[in-house]
Amino acid sequence: MDSAEQLPLSEQEQLSADVTQRAKELQRLLQRASYEYYVLDAPTMEDAVYDKLYHELVDLETRYPELITPDSPTQRVGERPARQFKSVRHNIPLYSLENAFGNEDLARWEERWRRNAADAKEVEYVCELKIDGNSLALTYEHGVLVRGATRGDGIEGEDITQNVRTIRSIPLRLNIENPPPIIEVRGEAFLPLESFNQINQERENAGEALFANPRNAAAGTLRQLDSRIVAKRKLDFFAYTLHVGSQEAGFALRLSSKGGRRQKAEGEEGGEDGGEIQNSQSSISNLQSPILTQWQVLQTLKQLGFRVNPEGAVCADLAAVMAYCDRWSTERTQLPYMTDGVVVKLNSLALQERLGFTQKFPRWAIALKYPAEEAPTVVERISVNVGRTGAVTPLAEMKPVQLAGTTVSRATLHNRDRIAELDIREGDTVIVRKAGEIIPEVVRVLYELRPEGTHPFEMPTHCPECGQLLEKPEDEAVTRCINISCPAILRKSLEHWASRDAMDIAGLGEKWVVQLVDNGLVKSVADLYDLTAEQLLTLERMGKKSAEKLVQAIADSRQKPWSRVLYGLGIRHVGSVNAQVLTDAFPTVEALSQASVEDIAAVYGIGTVIAQSIYDWFQIPTNQELISRLQTAQLQLHSELRTQNSGLHTALSGKTFVITGTLPTLKRDEAKTLIQQAGGKVTDSVSKKTDYVVVGEDAGSKLQKAQDLGITLLTEETLLELLNLSNE
Ligand code: AMP
Ligand code: ZN
Repeated sequence: MDSAEQLPLSEQEQLSADVTQRAKELQRLLQRASYEYYVLDAPTMEDAVYDKLYHELVDLETRYPELITPDSPTQRVGERPARQFKSVRHNIPLYSLENAFGNEDLARWEERWRRNAADAKEVEYVCELKIDGNSLALTYEHGVLVRGATRGDGIEGEDITQNVRTIRSIPLRLNIENPPPIIEVRGEAFLPLESFNQINQERENAGEALFANPRNAAAGTLRQLDSRIVAKRKLDFFAYTLHVGSQEAGFALRLSSKGGRRQKAEGEEGGEDGGEIQNSQSSISNLQSPILTQWQVLQTLKQLGFRVNPEGAVCADLAAVMAYCDRWSTERTQLPYMTDGVVVKLNSLALQERLGFTQKFPRWAIALKYPAEEAPTVVERISVNVGRTGAVTPLAEMKPVQLAGTTVSRATLHNRDRIAELDIREGDTVIVRKAGEIIPEVVRVLYELRPEGTHPFEMPTHCPECGQLLEKPEDEAVTRCINISCPAILRKSLEHWASRDAMDIAGLGEKWVVQLVDNGLVKSVADLYDLTAEQLLTLERMGKKSAEKLVQAIADSRQKPWSRVLYGLGIRHVGSVNAQVLTDAFPTVEALSQASVEDIAAVYGIGTVIAQSIYDWFQIPTNQELISRLQTAQLQLHSELRTQNSGLHTALSGKTFVITGTLPTLKRDEAKTLIQQAGGKVTDSVSKKTDYVVVGEDAGSKLQKAQDLGITLLTEETLLELLNLSNE
């Protein structure tokens, strides 16, 4: 009996020793791989290997939870950040906000925080619009922007400084004379609706999936590896939090959190506790008055050079808060950016400090969320649309309904998977939504209202335009017509070719395109260049004047640069920005068509998916033929050679700077950092290779030499301008 019991026990011990050792080894391997990947930016482990080991560890830790150590790689919450962004730890966590969905929730919240601060009497609230974007933490050392990070999981985010610097409403240098060692500013990066719509337009043109809402678009933009693309996308930023740090502490502190001293009656006005706040305040002595309230934080942020949302308001009590929320529930639809609610904060920083945080939220703030706008309507028909890339998209055509200030009559059903999931049928009553989402979406089907005799919708097996059997690749949800002479695809390709960002052919709109294709006059974009006015006159309702004009407009488009031609070809994933980047790197069509996937992917900002798509496109004989016909038609299939430093990520990339003399405000090191962050190089001596010399007071022989060599001279001011320009 004894021995029988002992045997399994020792076996268990044996196993557990092995397991422990293996877990340790996995942790060590993964940690090293992460370090190389994120910190050194020099990965040595394949992603697939990492994932395999990671899962093995998760497996072990699930079976033997006692193996989990706080520093195990599995204990990082959130996703692995994208390749090439370093992960950074936030000095102060970025908390989430508790949600309220109506006045009762707000009242309950007031009760709750009052229980934690029973002596507080009248208090003020600050209401700020909740901007639907992505929060950023910006670090300024001695007044200069040194880091911009995403929220990530709140503890750890991604270092996206390079991208943050492209946001023009974020100052690179704070407007303050004696900046404290560290200031951390937080706020919301967002895409104004206009930019959002523009991006989606461009994505549609490039045959890419659309962003569902501005928040997703902003997130996607901030994590772009090519900061030139970020710069083009016109992100904006509203600041709302300020933390001031001290040298001794080495990291940012909340304004009012100097020392741990708790005082009893600092509550209501927020004024009594001034002494304590002023302590940390001393480090920003240049700011006019001590910062005691959130409202003053907002004013200070403005003084420092940030954009602060202009609609914020101080509310004297909860009733005023409710009135504010009520007012903006309708007025928000008029704003040029998307909001999804109101953030209500206690105005007194002392009171905020006293209340502190729960595990996840500040106790002193709450987010009132506006309900998504939804409405019921009836699906009259489910149709399919064939896009330029051949993708066949199902659409619900619905009885028109008013939503978020617009009339909605069509909603995308995305793909066959989504249709199957919804089981949506013609005749169904459905709920459509248009909240943060600009594109209306069918959220659910009210099956109980389904009329008799409906049938499940089935995606067509053949192209509704050309009859070709449709392709349904197994690993994708998309259904595609792959007939290159499908009239739907041809029509859309022609429209794309003629569009503003491509060849910009005035007068060649949908109306004529349809006829040109139907009458067989045009079978590819190259045919456009052979069209004569006489041929055009055969089209219905075409007059002599218009025909001549159109022929001229087509002829003029021959002068459009190579980048537009490339964009106009409509290769999947090649939007106008990518086209520019690509034609910078491949100044001729020959260079691009002969490049390997690796060559193309080596271009900064171009990933393998895009590279593969381009490579594949050039392998297709009809496409090769098209290129040679365009060549014969004398289009621009090469660019005038510009500067050598193509494919790099900022205007200052590869430029060499020398700094001489004392600059009026920037220290030598700061100027150096700024230049380097913009991709430039700073060297000590002036030579023919120097591009710019930054000249301050008491400049010596370097200035002389620069003048002798005819090198461009910059003052601090013009340098800062140049740095700003490099972000455009
Ligand atoms: P949630 O993501 O719903 O937890 O809400 C918290 C988020 O609201 C924060 O991470 C911020 O990104 C965002 N937010 C937008 N506007 C504000 C604001 N004025 N004050 C605080 N947070 C805001
Ligand atoms: Zn077709």
